[in-house]
Amino acid sequence: MLYVSTRGKSDLVSSAYAINRGLAKDGGLFVPQSFPKIRLSDIKAMEKKPYTERAIDVLFQFLTDYTEDELRECVEQAYTTIKFGDNPVPLVPVTANTSVLELWHGPTSAFKDMALQLLPHLMTKATQKNGEDRKVVILVATSGDTGKAALEGFSDVQNTEIIVFYPSEGVSDIQKQQMITQMGKNVQVYGIEGNFDDAQRGVKQIFGDENMARELAEKGYVFSSANSINWGRLVPQIVYYFSAYVDAVKAGSIKLGDAINFVVPTGNFGNILAGYYAKLMGLPVERLLCASNSNNVLTDFINTGIYDRKREFYKTISPSMDILVSSNLERLLYAVSDGDAEDVAVLMNKLNEEGNYKISGEALKKIQSQFFAAWVDEVETKEAIGRVYADHSYLMDTHTAVAWRALEKYRFLTSDNTFTIVLSTASPYKFCNSVLEAIHDNKENEANPFALLRKLEAETKLPIPIRMEALEKLPVLHKQVIPVDQMAETVMNNLK
Ligand SMILES: *Cc1c(COP(=O)(O)O)cnc(C)c1O
Repeated sequence: MLYVSTRGKSDLVSSAYAINRGLAKDGGLFVPQSFPKIRLSDIKAMEKKPYTERAIDVLFQFLTDYTEDELRECVEQAYTTIKFGDNPVPLVPVTANTSVLELWHGPTSAFKDMALQLLPHLMTKATQKNGEDRKVVILVATSGDTGKAALEGFSDVQNTEIIVFYPSEGVSDIQKQQMITQMGKNVQVYGIEGNFDDAQRGVKQIFGDENMARELAEKGYVFSSANSINWGRLVPQIVYYFSAYVDAVKAGSIKLGDAINFVVPTGNFGNILAGYYAKLMGLPVERLLCASNSNNVLTDFINTGIYDRKREFYKTISPSMDILVSSNLERLLYAVSDGDAEDVAVLMNKLNEEGNYKISGEALKKIQSQFFAAWVDEVETKEAIGRVYADHSYLMDTHTAVAWRALEKYRFLTSDNTFTIVLSTASPYKFCNSVLEAIHDNKENEANPFALLRKLEAETKLPIPIRMEALEKLPVLHKQVIPVDQMAETVMNNLK
């Protein structure tokens, strides 16, 4: 299996190369040349397997330059009981036709762990395979969750260095505390005076800077990315769509072969794209529901075919989705253009230069046949948390609640009552303040984030994630906040 760039001006590369580099030379994203097929009988066979073996089944189809034993080594180091508990991805039935897939049982309490616990192991092996002797510098722009998950994954991983940029005023208290207390000899964390899009743009600029790349190469470094533009981030996410489907069959919610819906709280379009890829591989999926918060650029895009990032940016209570440029959409455009990379390159240039683009009617039709999109405001998000907790004793975080409410809108509009899996992307503790306000329906006055954790625990009896509770006693190691235009020089001056 070889990989091409979505912009067509890059050579065919192996998966190890794609994982090592992150971004293609022409600025595009790596995608597999074709999609391997998984048969219903293969899916059935997954029923008896633990998550790690299900993961190998899927990964092996894409990462063909890794041996099965190498992949086994990677997944067994990633999805350990110590890090994820007995079941890394529980599927929790909430109503007769709705189950929630909890993707946040990893070390940082957000779904990013599913990929970022595995990526460093894939990366280390990729470095060996490529005969790369330079040190890999991982640059991360984060809206909150990727940063911590990447830090946790790469901390003290040999021959790597990781540098994280987060919007200093754009993450939750717990998210910030998680990042600024991160230990490890090879980690750096900086707040930036800007939002996530600024951080992401800054990182992309650094990647695209040939002079910097040359200077780095001379010093013995090479850049890579742990953002979901990296193929090594996406492929582990395909696994849990299969796993969730298999568990729904096992639970008797559906019969093998039934097509189901997934609803995904979406920001950079990485998670939901993995669901689309699972469908391309043969997973019986009816519809993928793309849920956004007030930053509803994707809702507009899927409904009209026009992508326009020139709009007001809102800071919401689901900050991991506060994004106006969804990088992975480029991979979907490539897929629906039947691999017309030139077309994709034109659209991406237009987005860069003018801030918007419009796709063809034909491409839009294809997208609309697979996806439905809706957005959910702050009041609706909190209302959904409060109501689902009251009616079903199920507590959701703000991101999951956006997905839940979007599903309700879909069902109302379409009368489609197909069995649906809601992807739950964060523990309610990660956004404790908003969750407490939602279940009390009033303003929360407690400001100390750790007092808030204890308050939610006392009330709901759900245990606080151990690592989150422990943050309170950890020393702050990373205090620096920098202007956006100093990101590049900060990187160059601080390599270890
Ligand atoms: C990253 C994140 C999202 C958005 O996922 P994408 O893959 O960027 O679409 C949603 N919810 C949470 C909690 C996240 O951390």
